[in-house]
Amino acid sequence: MNALRTDLGTRLRAAAVEYAAHGWPVVPVSFFDGRSYTCVQADCVEETMHPVWRLWPDRASADPKVVAAWLGMLTLSVAVRTGVVFDVVSMPEAAATRVQAALAERHTATPVAVWRERGRRLFWVEPGLPWRPVLGRLDARVSAENGWVPVPPTPTRHGPVQWAVEPAQTGWCFARHEDFLAAASAG
Ligand SMILES: [Zn+2]
Repeated sequence: MNALRTDLGTRLRAAAVEYAAHGWPVVPVSFFDGRSYTCVQADCVEETMHPVWRLWPDRASADPKVVAAWLGMLTLSVAVRTGVVFDVVSMPEAAATRVQAALAERHTATPVAVWRERGRRLFWVEPGLPWRPVLGRLDARVSAENGWVPVPPTPTRHGPVQWAVEPAQTGWCFARHEDFLAAASAG
């Protein structure tokens, strides 16, 4: 158990450093240790994943050295701040797989992650996505300014957050608004 946890801690840190190196603002979140979410506050009673600092938006960092230091001291999970470099659209699994297929058909490459604990997939898009009725029909939610989403390989009660489309496959680029909304309408 200890060795496993150390290995996961190493992978979480390596992933966080890579996100930061590509300009993604990293936010440490509570770590699921197999039973519950643990964070840096000894008296924490939150039972779901959450940023470990109250004033986390100001502390989110895309400096690989800073991020490596945070995750070197403690085993924490990895999230990214939204609304600055990108927005993230989440939608339920069924709608999400249709939209993901529509994106692929249109050759619109953008990172997609699976957050099984919430039964949703996450789509990275350029920041400032305007709200459109199609997003409501898909039960989509936009994580924008002062929001965060977990990123792989963050563990959850239902297994790790995983990439369905890795950012390296997209050249670390995000879908443009019109391309994403066109795929969403087709899905
Ligand atoms: Zn906490």
